[in-house]
Amino acid sequence: MDLESHSRGPQGTARRIEPATEPVACAVCRADDPRPYRAGMYSIGRVRFDLVRCKRCGLVYVNPRPTSAVLEALYDDPEYYTHGYNLGVETENYFARKHELIAQYEDTLAEYERETETRAGDLLELGSAGGFLLEAGRRRGWRVKGVEISPPAAEYSAREFGLEIHRGLLETAPYAEQSFDLAVADNVLEHTLRPDEVLARLHDLLRPGGHLIVIVPSYVNSAWFRGFAHLRSLLPRRFLGRQVLALLKFDGEDAGYPYHILEFDRATLTRLLRAAGFEIAKTEGSVPLPAHLFKDKSPTLRTRCLRFMFATLDRLMRLGLLPAARLRIVARRVR
Ligand SMILES: [Zn+2]
Repeated sequence: MDLESHSRGPQGTARRIEPATEPVACAVCRADDPRPYRAGMYSIGRVRFDLVRCKRCGLVYVNPRPTSAVLEALYDDPEYYTHGYNLGVETENYFARKHELIAQYEDTLAEYERETETRAGDLLELGSAGGFLLEAGRRRGWRVKGVEISPPAAEYSAREFGLEIHRGLLETAPYAEQSFDLAVADNVLEHTLRPDEVLARLHDLLRPGGHLIVIVPSYVNSAWFRGFAHLRSLLPRRFLGRQVLALLKFDGEDAGYPYHILEFDRATLTRLLRAAGFEIAKTEGSVPLPAHLFKDKSPTLRTRCLRFMFATLDRLMRLGLLPAARLRIVARRVR
């Protein structure tokens, strides 16, 4: 399937494709009993995709959703990791942030090592993108492997860092059971058709006592989003600016592709991890911080206000005092 000739990503104009769709049950509890959540949240061409919310477990998901062939074609788009990926939230190209992101990931890995009491073993990243976390891992002495569905990103990380990346889905990756000490799935699970099977596979790939770190967005499936949806007309649009509105998913008519076909919350993600055999070691909420806001060397008053707002929300979410916009769970394979 070739979406590329019909569409140039979320900001493109010529969209004539009619994607195949299919109705689906809840990916967490398998019930087929949803209520409407938000109509027309995403689109491919002229076809709009609605979000529904499972009445039994609370999972928010796209239903009907694009077929797996259509979804896979979305990730073939060379622009996925440039403007498709961050949906206009950041002002810089993801690949141009190479040095900055590798340095950040070295700190992130140091934190993971402390949390899991693991050092420099075998690391697997599902959804390795440009390979920046894996490269940071290698610099810290880990043996690293990645799985990446986007061909341009997989090629980039192999070429740029010589990394061993499986191009495609986890289910076809040729890795032996019990061959990793740490697995990371950062902003991946919300893209998957069968998150239960993905987690079961990750469980099998880890050695007993090994850890999985899962990070998912949980903002759309939250009281924040529902509140902002009601207050939409009252949002100070000029003050917040286009990027922050994009982060809040209120950036106007251009709905973007349905990359996030699932949106978890703490209960649904915990339930899935336990069902896959994991024990929960730690859960942490946070808010995604728009990087460009924090890099400006001579910030305006508006930028400083926004920084303060994001930093405060982030701190309160990490302390568990506010509902999380993003969740990170450290899970452990028991035996
Ligand atoms: Zn459900």
